[in-house]
Amino acid sequence: MAISLDLMKEITEAAGLPGYEGEIRSLMGKYLGSGAAVETDRLGNVIACKEGTSARPRIMLAAHMDEIGFMVKSITEEGFLKFQTLGGWWEQVMLAQRVVVKGRFGDIPGVIGSKPPHVLTEDERKKVVKKEDMYIDIGVANKAEAEAKGVTPGDPVIPVCPFTPLANEQYLMAKAWDDRFGCLVLIEVIQALKDIPHPNTVYAVGTVQEEVGLRGATTSAFGIDPDIGLALDVTIAADTPGLKGGQLQARLGGGPAVLLYDASMIPHLGLRNFVLDVAREEGLPVQLDALERGGTDAGRIHLARRGVPSLVICAPTRYIHSHASVLHRNDLENAVKLLLAIIRRLDEKALARLL
Ligand SMILES: [Zn+2]
Repeated sequence: MAISLDLMKEITEAAGLPGYEGEIRSLMGKYLGSGAAVETDRLGNVIACKEGTSARPRIMLAAHMDEIGFMVKSITEEGFLKFQTLGGWWEQVMLAQRVVVKGRFGDIPGVIGSKPPHVLTEDERKKVVKKEDMYIDIGVANKAEAEAKGVTPGDPVIPVCPFTPLANEQYLMAKAWDDRFGCLVLIEVIQALKDIPHPNTVYAVGTVQEEVGLRGATTSAFGIDPDIGLALDVTIAADTPGLKGGQLQARLGGGPAVLLYDASMIPHLGLRNFVLDVAREEGLPVQLDALERGGTDAGRIHLARRGVPSLVICAPTRYIHSHASVLHRNDLENAVKLLLAIIRRLDEKALARLL
């Protein structure tokens, strides 16, 4: 199986901030819709339902469509944009980065600016610049010109990083691998299931507003009432300088990682064992990881209604929550294979055994 680079480019470059998922939502609707019945719930989640030979178990696969970004809060008299961060940003990775303002008349390029180091005091230079002191420069003379170009407070602002295969073309750099990785897995799984019989019904959900508190997973899991929840997301790769030998373990190219712990959920052990057994039987690489901070959509899915056994399957990814993140193509493709193997085996008997 080879996932098309064109599809990766299209999905990673699409805009989609928490609450402003329109662009990525229409792509997800299009690609999921070619293999399953698709609907959108009232919060904006895209829900694809692929019926197999049995109505149960209902397997919910969730990947969040939103990426972290910014929102225009106000325009200064000089025409600079003050902004609100959407999702978790660390100031060190924001300065001098390119962005696009989704203005009323179209895209407006800009850059995140601040005072240059030359004019800072010795003390100021040692400190991280606070995001409150940053602004977006779109290159206009004043507020009236910014407004005339179509900028309105409330407009979403998207990080810019063109999709780029790196020196070893298995290493792929893009914005928003968190969580367009999961979105691509959903698309590939639903496409593949057109030709694969499966003893269950699969719901592939592109969720909204994960980065601001797992909100889309809350409403979609309620609506679906799943028997099993699997969230696809990214975890922190631990194979870069300064991280090796620490508490993190996953490396790029070592296979998708099963999360043993994160701040939003303790995974279901029976489901963990089932997934690890499937990987072993299929000869698929899999890694184990745990995240002390942060959560995923599974954090809400497992609490839906009377509770849903849930697990998170991740791609180890470098530089998440910055403009340019890097993941390994094999991990993406092996995640799809692992999901398909799970779905082929997960019938009512297998569900009863793992509970
Ligand atoms: Zn994520």
